[in-house]
This record gives sequence, structure tokens and C-alpha cells, in this order.
Amino acid sequence: MNMKKIMVTQPALPPLDEFIPYLEKIWDNKWLTNNGPFHEQFEKELAQYLGVKHISLFSNGTLALITALQALRITGEVITTPFSFVATTHSLWWNNIKPVFVDIDDKYYNLDPKKIEAAITPQTTAIMPVHVYGNPCDVEEIQRIADTYGLRIIYDAAHAFAVKKDGQSVMNWGDLSILSFHATKVYNTIEGGAIVCQDEKTKQRIDLLKNFGFRNETTVIEPGINAKMNELQAAYGSLQLKYVDSYIAKRLELAKLYNSLLSDVSGITIMPVEEGVSHTYPYYPVRINTAEFGMSRDDLYFKLQEYDIFGRRYFYPLISDFPTYRGLPSATATNLPVATQVSKEIVCLPMYANLEFEEVEKICSFIKELAKK
Ligand SMILES: *Cc1c(COP(=O)(O)O)cnc(C)c1O
Repeated sequence: MNMKKIMVTQPALPPLDEFIPYLEKIWDNKWLTNNGPFHEQFEKELAQYLGVKHISLFSNGTLALITALQALRITGEVITTPFSFVATTHSLWWNNIKPVFVDIDDKYYNLDPKKIEAAITPQTTAIMPVHVYGNPCDVEEIQRIADTYGLRIIYDAAHAFAVKKDGQSVMNWGDLSILSFHATKVYNTIEGGAIVCQDEKTKQRIDLLKNFGFRNETTVIEPGINAKMNELQAAYGSLQLKYVDSYIAKRLELAKLYNSLLSDVSGITIMPVEEGVSHTYPYYPVRINTAEFGMSRDDLYFKLQEYDIFGRRYFYPLISDFPTYRGLPSATATNLPVATQVSKEIVCLPMYANLEFEEVEKICSFIKELAKK
């Protein structure tokens, strides 16, 4: 097989001809942003699809994170994970909040609840966990800690679109959850994001904050930001919703194939999925044990590139290792032993709805060849 370059991801787009009528409507309406008809329709459809009560659409996930912290007036210190995309911690920085990194667990790579309490100080006001790779955090235990100490919880649920635990959206946990609809995610609106909240009053506050703080035509009550989703994104998002189940179904099939081909390879740990969780496989991470596999994660990562297979080392480096954050007292490897280790051993293999089964077979046969050497 003459291989084309296989990247870690490729965005899923709806059929172009089906998008044209949506565009024609926008051109007729001449309503491009600020709560247009597609925005209104999409917000309702999305809440229903996800099984949540209240959702506010955003122009991207990072602004949703930043606004979520402002909506709850979070200050001081926030406990968070170093094993995530850098935007998680950036949102704290943009709010003048001190990030306090806590280590992750060794199975799902989520914030380890057993280590949270030791990091709480009088300045702590909230916990910001991430459902990494779409695996739900230990939401019950995190809630128990938050209740005990009077802390708020904001979930970075950028990987958890449509993820359910025991039939419930994971976004019904915590005070707020944020989503990203960036091109690289399971579900995209090109760029886009959202905040899920639990009551109407909070939604009103979030909606005001994403529109400069306007309460009405003449009243600005706070220095809000401009983070609104526009009509083109909303129309595209509405059309995408018709296809997202097929994208997810294909991902599950691809994951099943990967699992069957890789689970018996010595030195490779495939991602576990908890009983009762309906997964979407936003990523396909494998963990490499150098001694057992016979090659390090980095060697495998670069070797695969020679075969035109481009995985990604999500998440390496850790957020706590970036120059902006590495001076923080909680950013040390001794405080974060599991995250430090996992970050050296994990690589995400190509995973997207248009990936072909033959390509997965090819990728796995290369990996098996390399394992033997
Ligand atoms: C993608 C992502 C974000 C940022 O979302 P954008 O829509 O790209 O701003 C935040 N957190 C995590 C964990 C992500 O994967």
C-alpha cells in the first residue's frame, strides 16, 4: 500500500451541498451574530442532544473556560491537573488565579481525588478537573471534597462531548462544564465552545458575560468579553448534529479494531473504559513500557513518522513544565510523579471518523514489527 500521510486527526465535515441552504437562509436574514435564529435553534438542539438543561454557546472553548471562572467569581487558588491541553491552566492565568497542580491517577490519568485535600489552602476556591480522553473523572469523590470544603467545581469537558456515565451526561456533574467544538474534536463547529450550567440564573449571567456585560441596551454591569458564537458556526453546528452519531459510531469501530490488534502486544497498555460509560474515543492513546515493548515512546513516535504516521504526544510536556508555570511551588516532578511518568510514556495514535480500517491495520502492523526488534 502506498501510504499517504496519516495525521493524528482530521476534521469531520458535513456534506457541503447540505450546508448551502443554511447559508442561503443566513444571506436572506442578514443576521450574522448576536443571538440569531440559528444560534437560538442550535442552543436548544444541543442541550437536548447532550441531555443537559442549560447551555451557552461560545466562539471557542478557551473563552468558555475563562468566562466560566468569571461567572462563579472564582479567585485565589484553583486546584487543577497538569495533564491537559494548556488552555485549562491558561484560563486561570487570564483570571489572575494561582494554579495549584495536583497529580493524576495511574489508570484514567484524571485528577487524583486522593491527592486533592492535601493541596487545599484557605485561598482555594475551586477545583478544575479535566475528563481526559473522555474518561469521566471520579465525579462523586470530587463532589464530596468540594462540599466538605465549600469549593466550586468547573469541569474542562473539552474531551467529553456526548460522554455519558450510567446513562447521564457527565456534564450534569459539578457547577459548570465547558466544551470545545474545535476542528480537532469529536464534534466541531470549526471553532466553538459552550458552558453547561445547572440553572437559568447562571445561564443569564454567562450570556451577559460573553456579550461585553450588557444586561440591556443601556446597562453594562461588568467588564464582560466578546465570546459569542456567530450564525455561520451555529448553522454548521446544527447540521453537524445530524451526523455526529455516525462519527462516534465509526470511532468506536476503529477503537475496537485497534484494541483487538494491540491488546496482546507486550509493553503496550490500551486505554481502559469504565463500566457504564458510553465513550466516544476522542483520542486513541497507548502507553508504552520501554523495557517490555523494547523501545521508548519517543523512539516509537519518531519511527512511526518514518512510515508517514503522525501520532501526537498528548500530553507532553506537562502544563507544569512550560516556562510560564514551572516556577509554581506545585509544578515539581516530586509533587507530580504519576503525571511526569505518564507524560513520557503516552502517545495518541491516529483517530478520526474518516480513518480507514485498513489504515488502522497498517499502523498496528508497523507497531508490532517495531515491538519485535
Ligand atoms: C481543545 C481543548 C481546549 C481548548 O478549546 P478551544 O476550543 O481550542 O479553545 C481546552 N481544554 C482541553 C482539555 C482541550 O482539549
